[in-house]
Amino acid sequence: MPDFSRRDLLKSAAAATATAAAAALSTAAHAQTTSGPAAAAPVVGIQIGAGPLAGDTDHLLDTLRSVGGINSLFLFIFGHEARFVPWPPATFRGGNYAVPHMQYYNGSGLALEDLRAPEYPDLDILDRAMKATRKHGFRTFALIEEAEGQPQTPPWQAFYEFDYLGRRQRNPCSNNPGYRAFTLGLVEDYTRSYDVDGFMWSSERQGAFTNALGARHGGASSDPTRVTCFCEHCTTRAAARGINVDRAKQAFAALADFVRAGRANKRPRDGYFVTLFRLLLKFPELLVWEQFWIDSRRQLMIDLRNKVKSINPHTPVGIHVWHNASFSPFYRAEIDFADMAQNADFIKPVLYNACAGSRIKTYADSVSHTIFGDLPPDQILQIHYQFFDYHQPPYDKVAAAGFSTDYISGEIKRTLDDIAAAPPDHPVPVYAGLDCDIPGAAYTADSVKASVLAAFHAGANGVIFARNWGEMNPLHVAGIGAAVKELGIS
Ligand SMILES: [Zn+2]
Repeated sequence: MPDFSRRDLLKSAAAATATAAAAALSTAAHAQTTSGPAAAAPVVGIQIGAGPLAGDTDHLLDTLRSVGGINSLFLFIFGHEARFVPWPPATFRGGNYAVPHMQYYNGSGLALEDLRAPEYPDLDILDRAMKATRKHGFRTFALIEEAEGQPQTPPWQAFYEFDYLGRRQRNPCSNNPGYRAFTLGLVEDYTRSYDVDGFMWSSERQGAFTNALGARHGGASSDPTRVTCFCEHCTTRAAARGINVDRAKQAFAALADFVRAGRANKRPRDGYFVTLFRLLLKFPELLVWEQFWIDSRRQLMIDLRNKVKSINPHTPVGIHVWHNASFSPFYRAEIDFADMAQNADFIKPVLYNACAGSRIKTYADSVSHTIFGDLPPDQILQIHYQFFDYHQPPYDKVAAAGFSTDYISGEIKRTLDDIAAAPPDHPVPVYAGLDCDIPGAAYTADSVKASVLAAFHAGANGVIFARNWGEMNPLHVAGIGAAVKELGIS
């Protein structure tokens, strides 16, 4: 749905920065427009929904290039989140903004009407995007966000996980044959039918143990009994691996009791940490099940990439790494960049420094009632800074201040070092996931520019801005363009 006030803002912002960003970048933009996708240039990417691509794509891409120095789109081309389009939630359904070619979705149980997004019934947004971006010399990556806003209608429900009490939950299961058929079909369709320039796979979730503990930003609202996955496919596979499924269910019931008591401020007699460790000794299944869940997702990611490579070996398939790896040492441990690099063509660690402050605070608050319940949140935060070698603001200041760009530099270097320690047989560029205008944090053109400079100076091979163009102030996006100009790239 067109947003005319935003369009006006865009035009005024483009005009305001015309003498600075646009003029300075026009030479490079012209060169790339006439020479096709700039495969060798560092990625200067932005995440974007279907909405802007339903309109004047020439104006859009000219603006992104001239204001922000952008040369790559990461397109939310499939999904069920209104804010990513953007679209008014009251009339939103979502789905595939390309026209599905149904021969690729055999085995999924999905029909065309289940897949096709109804918001732009007369448009194939991916076809529009590919034609426009080829013309303007951009690269276009399909961003596959696997677990955001999944529809609660059959046959989608058939893909979703079960908790240990046998209740259907609302995220897809990596071991579900129908979900695997759908998601493998989606990447095959986009590769064969559209020849997209690449994929970025995003899975912003974790296993049952860490979810029960609320070991994530915003985790205090997690229900410790709704942890997954105990569906027939998972329990069969787990049993084949020698895991006692009944013991695992008992383990998570006991863990839920521990978490509920903690959230009610009932301190265990021997303290939180000791009591939890005693549970782990009694029920090693808590960690075994976590590893099983991670392994299942890892295998799906490998299968996705293999599917794409079997069609076009030159199509890159990269991985977006959830921001929680910057807050929770448990999720950080689950993310092994050296292993990931073996099975990815690029890695994008999320390093949103401005919103990191408020996010890590919600993480610390959440685990202050579970695994770290023996300590107050301000001390929990300091311990985590020591875990991660962060030098960031204290608890009472971090939400407003955000993280400094030292965080970006340090994490880029860590990622590069991890990959270099066990180098794969193919190049694996690292693209910094950076933030602009994520609600709840403060941004300026200068702060955005500083984040880009920090990433590239630390050795990043590119940057990708989140969450999406539809919520960004173009005056702030101009900070990307200013950095690109200073660096002499794009
Ligand atoms: Zn399952």
